[in-house]
Amino acid sequence: MKLAGKIVFITGASAGIGAACAQRFAQEGARLLLAARRMDRLEAMTPSLKQAGSPEVLNVALDVRYREQVQRVLDGLPEQWRAIQVLVNNAGLSRGLSKLHEGDIQDWEEMIDTNVKGLLYVTRAVVPGMIERGAGHVVNLGSTAAHLAYPNGAVYCATKAAEFRVTEGLRQEMLGTPVRVTTVDAGMVETEFSEVRFRGDKERAAKVYRDITPLQPEDVADAIVWAVTRPAHVNIAQVLMTTIDQANSLLFHRHKD
Ligand code: NAP
Repeated sequence: MKLAGKIVFITGASAGIGAACAQRFAQEGARLLLAARRMDRLEAMTPSLKQAGSPEVLNVALDVRYREQVQRVLDGLPEQWRAIQVLVNNAGLSRGLSKLHEGDIQDWEEMIDTNVKGLLYVTRAVVPGMIERGAGHVVNLGSTAAHLAYPNGAVYCATKAAEFRVTEGLRQEMLGTPVRVTTVDAGMVETEFSEVRFRGDKERAAKVYRDITPLQPEDVADAIVWAVTRPAHVNIAQVLMTTIDQANSLLFHRHKD
């Protein structure tokens, strides 16, 4: 599957895995429709994306938690940006690490609204066009957390378990259409993820990656581009990937251990 000139829509493209995906898809010559809340970040990326090979970049301000906003942004796309070929449902976050019975309910709402409901809203708005045009690929960002929960992260893990089942259901529903559906389930990736989880506490965030060689966002972007560029009849259902220092959500090898 060649991506030159095709429209790739990435949510949460302003940082981490989403930003790395933008860069990798640019190298494939894709036109990039990039969404996030921080427009300044997106705008700052545009020159390097064009330099990497993207013929056109359109940045849109979008908070995936708001259903009407998602619909409005997608309905308001200029005609030449409507034929989305690839949707990367990447926008997501974790908040806090605490036992369920001590958890911050606002944190739960934010994770569920973003990781589950946001993914559903965007998918609902984009997939009908893919079916109509007879082409499309939905890639959802899952996690090793979908497959094995870790203590103090039950709600985040539950959002990724929900993503896994939503992806599985969608893939079954797309049978008989040319729309492909993939979940990319990564373990620990060094992004702003932990900083967001700990609300800007860089020191605490850095400890997450202590004495480990984590995956880099480029590693995940590489897997996503690989899945999307398989021949049209090949559907990569799931990519499950970790650093060599991680076996699952719970088991890590720290170099000094
Ligand atoms: P990151 O560096 O913090 O990037 C998260 C991106 O999501 C940012 O661009 C952020 O943009 C966007 N985002 C967050 N809330 C949003 C909202 N309400 N509306 C629109 N965009 C929103 O984290 P990351 O590690 O790249 O995470 C990307 C995805 O990978 C997430 O779904 C995460 O769960 C998943 N994942 C991460 C890891 C890991 O270890 N890092 C492992 C497995 C899976 P704005 O703040 O500008 O809106």
